[in-house]
Amino acid sequence: MSFVFYNTLGRSRQDFQPLEKGKVGFYGCGPTVYNYAHIGNLRAYILHDTLVRALRRGGYEVNHVMNITDVGHLSGDSDHGEDKMVKSAEEKGKSVLEIADYYTKAFFNDTDKMNILRPSVVCKATEHIPQMIEIIRRIEEKGCTYFSGGNLYFDISQFPNYGELALLRLDEQGHTRTGVDENKRNPQDFVLWFTKSKFESRALVWDSPWGRGYPGWHIECSAMSMEHLGEQFDIHAGGIDHIPVHHTNEIAQSETAFGKRPWVKYWLHNEFLILDKGKMSKSTGGFVTLQNLADEGFDPLDYRYFLLGGHYRSQLNFSHESLQGAKSSRKSLMDKIRSLDSGAAGAGAAGGAEIPAGSAAEKRLKAFDAAMQDDLSTPRALAELWGLLKDDSPPAQTLAAVFQMDEVLGLSLESAYNEQKKDCENLDSGFAEEVQKLIDRRAQAKKAKDFAQADGIRLELKERGVILEDRAEGTVWRRV
Ligand code: AMP
Ligand code: ZN
Repeated sequence: MSFVFYNTLGRSRQDFQPLEKGKVGFYGCGPTVYNYAHIGNLRAYILHDTLVRALRRGGYEVNHVMNITDVGHLSGDSDHGEDKMVKSAEEKGKSVLEIADYYTKAFFNDTDKMNILRPSVVCKATEHIPQMIEIIRRIEEKGCTYFSGGNLYFDISQFPNYGELALLRLDEQGHTRTGVDENKRNPQDFVLWFTKSKFESRALVWDSPWGRGYPGWHIECSAMSMEHLGEQFDIHAGGIDHIPVHHTNEIAQSETAFGKRPWVKYWLHNEFLILDKGKMSKSTGGFVTLQNLADEGFDPLDYRYFLLGGHYRSQLNFSHESLQGAKSSRKSLMDKIRSLDSGAAGAGAAGGAEIPAGSAAEKRLKAFDAAMQDDLSTPRALAELWGLLKDDSPPAQTLAAVFQMDEVLGLSLESAYNEQKKDCENLDSGFAEEVQKLIDRRAQAKKAKDFAQADGIRLELKERGVILEDRAEGTVWRRV
């Protein structure tokens, strides 16, 4: 399958060509684990998951790497403010590692509930400090650093392509930035290694050639992605807020350290989930979590369905009314799927039916795949799913196509279908047991020549839709 992605690098739709045939190296910026994820963050992870699922369905072997930022991310996204992890630990009276551990578990608890597949590799910043130091050392060797006010900075004037991803106009930028660090030569220079902390007692500090301290946030992603995916890889993703600073700085560091361009060929960025016309942010508080939605009676998959209804590059307004709409649509979807009978015996057996070439179901499936290959157009893909359910295809073919679509949508449609089929089978086996008991009682009545009771049992079963047939080998039954 051939994918087309809108690449932020170059701002254009581009055919996807991985570095190695059939394989994809993908890095998605993970959470800073100082608080619960809010539902805006979860939109970013749904993009990662949709991308991975679509590529895998397209036949690619995807190595999906996600970092856990457990040190160094300041409350401002550049070099200002307090360390988010340390601040949260101090507020809650816990150690930084306890905070990180607690919120990492909470994060995966949320993503599991939303049926987001676990990444192939999950890596912690605190476990990659030597790799960060090594990259900083290389950057220093290339003459792109300076030490000022106790911190080691990246000197963007030494990297001619700085700002290429964000289309930054550096001449304009310098005048507009406020609160610029006096120690910087250029406003966009950023810290690679801090030794001067605003906190007296930093829990997490390491020795380095530049003194005891801790890494800047951006170097974490450069180090962890290259550790697990190599010096160049295929796709990098994150929210659009990461374009002008975080991802721009990751590129500057990585390309300087290893001299390979482009460091990453394709950059995908999700637009924001907007709440009450404002951006949702963990650092400013007042955010909505998946648990808040659950408390209001929404299933995490209702929220997944809601997100899939918007294209990842469009802003999405969150409201309880629109989530309610998604909940009702998902319920109709499940009801419709559960009403189909594949004819296959036993739960778990549906979905294996062949989808004949040229059939309506096959056309829908192809259109679905084409929508996903077209820059992950989930709204169009969902429309094909609904179209399939409205077509009059044989149920077994419809189910087989639905389940293939769900490999990408991740709405647990197959398990929902199988669960209800199992319920029916359980009901059925309970019913069969009851019928057999009555047949045995009737046989005993006949033996005792109590024909009135025997006839009564036959009548009772008939009223329950069961016809008896006495054969030489015994009594058998069937439904009317
Ligand atoms: P953070 O944990 O703050 O680094 O954010 C995790 C991910 O969520 C990043 O990729 C952000 O770009 C993304 N993000 C943050 N806020 C929103 C939002 N309101 N809508 C969509 N994505 C967001
Ligand atoms: Zn990152």
